[in-house]
Amino acid sequence: MARINENYLKLKAGYLFPEISRRVAKFAAENPQASIIRLGIGDVTEPLIPAVVEAFHKSVDEMARRDTFKGYGPEQGYDFLRNAIAQNDYQARGADVSADEIFVSDGSKCDTGNILDIFGDDNIIAVTDPVYPVYVDTNVMAGHTGAADESGRYGGLVYIPMNAANNFTPSLPDRKVDLIYLCFPNNPTGTVISKEALTRWVEYAKANDATILYDAAYEAYITDPTVPHSIYEIPGAKEVAIEFRSFSKTAGFTGTRCAFTVVPKALKGKTASGESIDIQPLWNRRHCTKFNGVSYPVQQAAAAIYSPAGKEQIREMISFYLTNAKLIREGLQKVGIEVHGGVNAPYVWLKTPNNLSSWDFFDKLLSKAHLVGTPGSGFGAAGEGYFRLSAFNSRAKVQEAVERFTKVLE
Ligand SMILES: *Cc1c(COP(=O)(O)O)cnc(C)c1O
Repeated sequence: MARINENYLKLKAGYLFPEISRRVAKFAAENPQASIIRLGIGDVTEPLIPAVVEAFHKSVDEMARRDTFKGYGPEQGYDFLRNAIAQNDYQARGADVSADEIFVSDGSKCDTGNILDIFGDDNIIAVTDPVYPVYVDTNVMAGHTGAADESGRYGGLVYIPMNAANNFTPSLPDRKVDLIYLCFPNNPTGTVISKEALTRWVEYAKANDATILYDAAYEAYITDPTVPHSIYEIPGAKEVAIEFRSFSKTAGFTGTRCAFTVVPKALKGKTASGESIDIQPLWNRRHCTKFNGVSYPVQQAAAAIYSPAGKEQIREMISFYLTNAKLIREGLQKVGIEVHGGVNAPYVWLKTPNNLSSWDFFDKLLSKAHLVGTPGSGFGAAGEGYFRLSAFNSRAKVQEAVERFTKVLE
């Protein structure tokens, strides 16, 4: 028998979403008349916008004709898409990112995991708590951690709490760390980081020779003009940060699959002997060796969001979800629940009433109001006592959910 990677045995069994499904299925079986509304999973519900569908169809037709058929494309992505991203997402915001620093992929989930390939195994790694579980689990798989304790924290990781006490702005580590995962607008809390706070992180990274892995999957939901969309809006960030972006939440591509990672040419790492090495060629090598590019029609579909019609349609779709978030946020506030997020993100993070545990509140919400959300404790120990609601649903279901919420307070 072949030896396995025993680091996988350290993973806490994929507990959160299977456990939610189990409890919902049990309740539904016992209460067949209940109409359950799901505000749990972070998946979009609106269909692709017309500009995207049109470009998608057109490029599928190109694949069907001998003279326009395309085989393998450039692993890094077609120039038309890399240029559109560089111009619209970066240069238009005053961030000097060039097309050859952009690597198109089939998802940010894979990119945030795969990035570990180009870093060594002895880095000190910091994550926020609560956290998008992919950052933690991929480090466990790579052998960068010890075992988990009963609260789910892994030995060897530095956890930086994000809670109401620090206004959901992670404070700088009290020791030197090498790799830092930040996600803003944040999943799960729906909160954002100010330009000043992000500047402090960039300065910390510079002073400590650290690299920031910045996940901006929800950047399109930012409504406050003072909030940075990209870490590269902060001076000097190109020397210390890699940024992950995805079309999943921006353009409803969760089932279509397209994302990109920015690895600036100014970013450096070091060897064991202290020699300084450019990171961008390492990622280019990794990407070209292990990945063969995103399909041509999908890249054309993604590029369509940068057309004038695409931009307008995307704005409408995001504003639809943000209105859902506002209805949830304001509806809950009205009945006296403490809420966070939901202004620059499609998630509302609520404090459970009467200090219920996240799972006790889950059960109460399901049994009394037939609503499903996500227990905050599933995102990390500091999420205990919090609960995530998602704005990805129809307007009618969101309105109905908000009305039903009063029932859990009785
Ligand atoms: C949804 C999401 C992504 C996007 O993942 P894809 O693989 O591109 O669909 C990335 N990061 C976070 C935090 C997310 O919630």
